[in-house]
Amino acid sequence: DPRIRRIASSIRVVPDFPKKGIMFQDITTLLLDPKAFKDTADLFVERYTGKGISVVAGVEARGFIFGPPIALAIGAKFIPLRKPRKLPGEVISENYVLEYGTDCLQMHVGAVQPGERALVVDDLIATGGTLCAAISLLERAGAEVVECACVIELPELKGREKLNGKPLYILMESH
Ligand code: 5GP
Repeated sequence: DPRIRRIASSIRVVPDFPKKGIMFQDITTLLLDPKAFKDTADLFVERYTGKGISVVAGVEARGFIFGPPIALAIGAKFIPLRKPRKLPGEVISENYVLEYGTDCLQMHVGAVQPGERALVVDDLIATGGTLCAAISLLERAGAEVVECACVIELPELKGREKLNGKPLYILMESH
């Protein structure tokens, strides 16, 4: 799809951020190009329209940028999956392992009903730990996770293998 190239070239790569040796994929420059941003949303919307998806769950923070336009266009609800102590209501939590230490995602109890079909959205998959936690939260609440969608995959980190066979759709790989 010719739209992918424009999206890819709009993403800035920042060496040694947030620490030495990391080539950070900066999607804020994609957001500065309205056509690239719209094409990104459109590609996901084209894929997920008519699939019976009633839930789009976005992972804090950049899943909050790409998730809502998809949810609005396909007529689904949007659920924010947040870092600890951000959500005011009753939550369920899922801990996951990082390179150094652990992190946690939380979801509001009652946000999703058993049997709902859900899409999980984030900007990027690296080790897959974040998406794995997101899938667990939704499944514990009884939702069926249909697919995970990211703009970028870092394939060397093999995060895809952590998703327990859950399909992952990406727009591009980065090396
Ligand atoms: P994982 O849990 O798959 O190792 O890491 C993915 C999470 O870290 C995502 O929520 C993503 O936003 C963030 N992340 C890791 N590396 C990058 C990067 O290079 N660029 C961006 N934009 N996010 C990253």
